[in-house]
Amino acid sequence: MLAIRLMQEQGIAVEGLNFKTLFTCCQDTAGQAAEELGIRVTVLGAEDDYLELIKSPRFGYGKGANPCVDCRIYMFQRAFRYMEQIGADFIISGEVVGQRPMSQKKRDLEIIGHHSNFADLLLRPLSAQLLPPTLPEREGWVDRQQLGNFYGRSRKGLIALANKFHFKNIPAPSTGCALTEPQFGKKVLDLVQLEPAAGSWDYRLLNMGRHFRLDAQTKVVVGRQKSENDQLEYAHKLPQASSTALLTPVNFQGPLSLILGPVTPESLGFSGGLLIRYSKIPDNRQPCVQVRTRHRTFQIKPFVSHRASQAHTLASLP
Ligand code: SF4
Repeated sequence: MLAIRLMQEQGIAVEGLNFKTLFTCCQDTAGQAAEELGIRVTVLGAEDDYLELIKSPRFGYGKGANPCVDCRIYMFQRAFRYMEQIGADFIISGEVVGQRPMSQKKRDLEIIGHHSNFADLLLRPLSAQLLPPTLPEREGWVDRQQLGNFYGRSRKGLIALANKFHFKNIPAPSTGCALTEPQFGKKVLDLVQLEPAAGSWDYRLLNMGRHFRLDAQTKVVVGRQKSENDQLEYAHKLPQASSTALLTPVNFQGPLSLILGPVTPESLGFSGGLLIRYSKIPDNRQPCVQVRTRHRTFQIKPFVSHRASQAHTLASLP
């Protein structure tokens, strides 16, 4: 917001770009910011090739499974393509030198600019005076003297500037990206390491339910509440689904579970046991669970094995 307003103060028209991935959640915030700034915002969705950089980032991960440097290069490449489509002159971003450990050290900003192929057209108005002059500054399209020299993690100076601009809503400092959360990152890295062929269906599923691993080929997902059970059931029906069986309670109230991997007596016992572990079943009732595989439907009478009772979710693993 501040970077955009600095441009507007110089009479430069700005169009907002909001980048959406399977793991981000900031579209509402972006819409509110655009309204306050009086600009149009376009949402660009990550394409299938985005998953490749999650699986093997050239510049590594941060604290979670966040490949921020690679992700920013990807975003700027998309932004430059969009810039050319709409006939814009250059790109700005709100990055501040030294603000985030993974992707905003001065060296990172240079790498990001270099690998996005248009470094000379990528202006960071908030820290411009600390960085080499870009083409828009050298050509006088932008007055460098009116740009910022913000550095580091403190938000004090940025908030003072937001107040000077009379912003009504100053957003909280959040990336809005689940990949930066270490717990969520464990589920992502599990998938990256054990299921290299996983596609967007598998990564989207990480946002739902408790995830347990039985072995290298087999994972079980258990819904946490009704809305998640509905989502899991819907996900299982999609043509691209890699789930092999859906388990639902027959004679008791409880969650749904999905098996991803071979349907074997062991995986059925593990999945059924987990389903029972998260259910409330009257003491005198023998629980019955319906299993829907891709080819047939049948019932099993599982119990909570030692393995199912001791299993940790992937997110809670040390
Ligand atoms: S926090 Fe998430 S969306 Fe932002 S740069 Fe890092 S990986 Fe990309």
